[in-house]
Amino acid sequence: MVGLITRFAPSPTGPLHLGHAFSALTAYDMARAADGEFLLRIEDIDTARCRPEYVAGIYQDLRWLGVTWPEPVLHQSRQTSAYYEALSRLSAMGVTYFCTCTRGDIRAALSAPQEGAQQIGPDGPIYPGTCRHAHHRGKDGPAAIRLDMAKALARIGPVSFTEIGPLKAGQHRYAQDELVHHVGDVILGRRDIGTSYHVAVIVDDAAQGVTHVVRGADLFDATPIHVVLQRLLALPTPLYHHHRLIRDEKGVRLAKRDDARALAKYRADGATPAEIRASVGL
Ligand code: GLU
Ligand code: ZN
Repeated sequence: MVGLITRFAPSPTGPLHLGHAFSALTAYDMARAADGEFLLRIEDIDTARCRPEYVAGIYQDLRWLGVTWPEPVLHQSRQTSAYYEALSRLSAMGVTYFCTCTRGDIRAALSAPQEGAQQIGPDGPIYPGTCRHAHHRGKDGPAAIRLDMAKALARIGPVSFTEIGPLKAGQHRYAQDELVHHVGDVILGRRDIGTSYHVAVIVDDAAQGVTHVVRGADLFDATPIHVVLQRLLALPTPLYHHHRLIRDEKGVRLAKRDDARALAKYRADGATPAEIRASVGL
């Protein structure tokens, strides 16, 4: 039996860069050190932004780095029925609602004078709740599905998770108010793809038996959303390791568009995997 299961879950929307190498190698080393398993998962639900050539690049770059993983690799684009099933279970619990707001509607509602200081949550501006009591039926037109955070929390009680990464190690607990006001009614089903990153990631982490989630610190604030969904769906909450982000020499976080730091570019310039490890501090 494998005790520890971790994963690297890139979205194929651009070439992998040094930050991805750090993430993948951190997860891979953790699995190896514990005689556990390292999984690769392709997070390609956003079909408008994902490209097959980037998937091929991910395989190539990881193999070059010396990372190995079991086949078959899970592609989220082939799993959409699992995400719809999770969403319909959540809807049946009464903790979701349809939202027909456009970005413009939300901006207008947020700039209304009584709204006060604007809060930015892990998914952007906190949704002002316009559709929460509107009882839209999704089939009347394009609609997103939102989590009713207050209802969800009333159902599951306090939310917490254990962080094992060095940046914020310890138990993280969230008060109900904090999640309602600083996270809010996030989108669980996008109107374009029907699902969302949050739903897909928790469904797959559970289905694959992931015990240790290794990912960048940029996703730390999304983690309580994931815990809320795990609790609602009676799925286990893994341990989380959010690692530092790799920055360029100016201190700017590397982005997918930054082809200059693509791993393929380093490889073409004659760098070795050992040099890549060293350059990200491994
Ligand atoms: N697919 C996400 C990304 O590339 C990572 C998701 C995760 O590790 O939870 O940013
Ligand atoms: Zn709405």
